[in-house]
Amino acid sequence: MITFHIISLFPESLDSYVNSSILKRAQERGIVAIKYYNPRDFAKSAKGNKDLSYAERRVDDRPYGGGPGMVMEALPVIRAIEKAVGKKIRSAKNRAKIKIIFFSPSGKQFTNVVADSFKKYTDIVLVCGRYEGVDARVKKAFPMTDISIGEYVLTGGELPAMVVIDTITRRIPGVLGDDNSVEERRVAGSDVYTRPPIIEYKGKKLSVPKVLLSGHHKKMDEWKKKAR
Ligand code: SAH
Repeated sequence: MITFHIISLFPESLDSYVNSSILKRAQERGIVAIKYYNPRDFAKSAKGNKDLSYAERRVDDRPYGGGPGMVMEALPVIRAIEKAVGKKIRSAKNRAKIKIIFFSPSGKQFTNVVADSFKKYTDIVLVCGRYEGVDARVKKAFPMTDISIGEYVLTGGELPAMVVIDTITRRIPGVLGDDNSVEERRVAGSDVYTRPPIIEYKGKKLSVPKVLLSGHHKKMDEWKKKAR
């Protein structure tokens, strides 16, 4: 089983996706588990004032060296990671089974190959930044890998966490109903069709390519290769 530990200021933004469809089933079947840690739960007020309301607890501050926006403070994030895997990472036996991912638009590009290389871990921690990102000193507290999901900048690391969890989970043998659904294990075209063979829309008849109705497997595979 892989346990995904998500460090996020907005865990509620992830709920509906991970609790639907294949990811939901993978959790119910004990193939993966997903846990949340909100740095706000690990934040202390600047004055050590315990009476501050939850929302008032500080988790970000202005960047050193100037510049726009706010930076997520290191300590609440470090404490959240500590809670998730701190004990395990200090045991020589378990250390190699833990991966900590630091999301950053300038990190290493996430791909299917990277996803497969992550399947061997029992615990994967996903550090989701918000605002201008997370104070880089968290990377001194624990070994981590900077990962990007693509050449664009998102508002936070929550979508990248979903992308990584989804991609890894569907590649674990037994998660998909039919293991051949994993794309590179079969001939797959980019366009797919289902019943009925002809549909009508605004007076136009739209039909499924004839070859796909032929039952001729070699010809269908050739068509799919071209359609990629
Ligand atoms: N100025 C920052 C922008 C941070 S975006 C920078 O260039 O690094 C806020 C957070 O969203 C980041 O800390 C990261 O956790 C996440 N994020 C945004 N785009 C991402 C991407 N393409 N891949 C992975 N994480 C991303």
